[in-house]
Amino acid sequence: MVKDTKFYDILGVSPSASSSEIKKAYRKFALKYHPDKNPSEEAAEKFKEASAAYEVLSDDEKREMYDQFGPEGMNGGPGGPGGFGGFGGFGDDIFSQFFGGAGAGAGRPRGPQRGRDIKHELSATLEELYKGRTAKLALNKQILCKTCEGRGGKKGAVKKCSSCNGQGVKFVTRQMGPMLQRFQAECEVCHGTGDIIDPKDRCKTCNAKKVTNERKILEVHIEPGMKDGQKVVFKGEADQAPDIIPGDVIFVVSQKPHEHFQRAGDDLVYEAEIDLLTAIAGGEFAIKHVSGEWLKVAIVPGEVISPGARKIISDKGMPIPKYGGYGNLIVKFNIKFPPNHFTDEESLKKLEEILPPRTKTNIPEGAVIDECVLSPFDPSKYKPSGARGGQSYDSDEEEERGGEGVQCASQ
Ligand SMILES: [Zn+2]
Ligand SMILES: [Zn+2]
Repeated sequence: MVKDTKFYDILGVSPSASSSEIKKAYRKFALKYHPDKNPSEEAAEKFKEASAAYEVLSDDEKREMYDQFGPEGMNGGPGGPGGFGGFGGFGDDIFSQFFGGAGAGAGRPRGPQRGRDIKHELSATLEELYKGRTAKLALNKQILCKTCEGRGGKKGAVKKCSSCNGQGVKFVTRQMGPMLQRFQAECEVCHGTGDIIDPKDRCKTCNAKKVTNERKILEVHIEPGMKDGQKVVFKGEADQAPDIIPGDVIFVVSQKPHEHFQRAGDDLVYEAEIDLLTAIAGGEFAIKHVSGEWLKVAIVPGEVISPGARKIISDKGMPIPKYGGYGNLIVKFNIKFPPNHFTDEESLKKLEEILPPRTKTNIPEGAVIDECVLSPFDPSKYKPSGARGGQSYDSDEEEERGGEGVQCASQ
């Protein structure tokens, strides 16, 4: 609910108007009442009003403040470093935005300030994320001076600078050709501090800067089972400055890649390579787990593990934070086949007795048949046939191509 509709009324739009409707309304106004177009005093007054309204309504942040608190919300909260409250005169810089001025870069007044958050990446191995770990990190931060409690001088000796109204900056308007430009400059009276302090009353500790530096050790607890991207937040531990709410120090967990394990939520995925005999006749293999223990895994004779097969080992995944327990370990199998000529032909005959019979070829009767043999394939030398200018297969190029894999002879 909008508390006060005055700014909307000035521009002749409804409080639910979109930002482009507001922009359009202001543009219409500017064309009609801008001092360059309309020199009357009444027009000047109207233009000033409309500009003030537009300055607020065109800024999502300010519009929200205005909708919530009405004009009182707009009188400028305390200013942080670089940010400051209050409004100066309006119009010229906005007008130049519309009509191609070189952007005056006026400061954007904002509502009550919250200091910036400080973000740190905290990298952790999968082992550390499994067991948990405490990391001690030194933080260099800015704090309010303890001697003067952030005033910059003795109690009662610090006066608001009247030249800049305590803002530390002033708006300067300058004529640039046909354009009036307005920009912000440091106040020369208070040198940007916003305060006037008699030199004898200045705080010696912070040299009237109101802040000092402090080194603080933060203990960051990585809980078992934490995930990549998860945050550990130290509320209000970021830099302090007068009249701002300090931001947070945020540590973002970054999981280092693991040589053997991948993570899928609370589950772990492990690629195991087993030999062909184990895959078809049973046996065992071992996994060095991120917990530090070794898992000895049995493949029961009778069970056949195909290449790419997946199996689950219950409760050998990552710890599940809060709920307790563990995820599962998913084992993905690669089968290591024996090399060429691993045995003699006689022994191979025995395999025929053991293994299921060969799959019969399925070529229809009477079909034209090419008899082919396989030659080695070297992926490092392979170029797709199409990459050679679309030429058809040429056996002379066979060798430099490293083989096409299949060679055929017409029958
Ligand atoms: Zn001080
Ligand atoms: Zn000043």
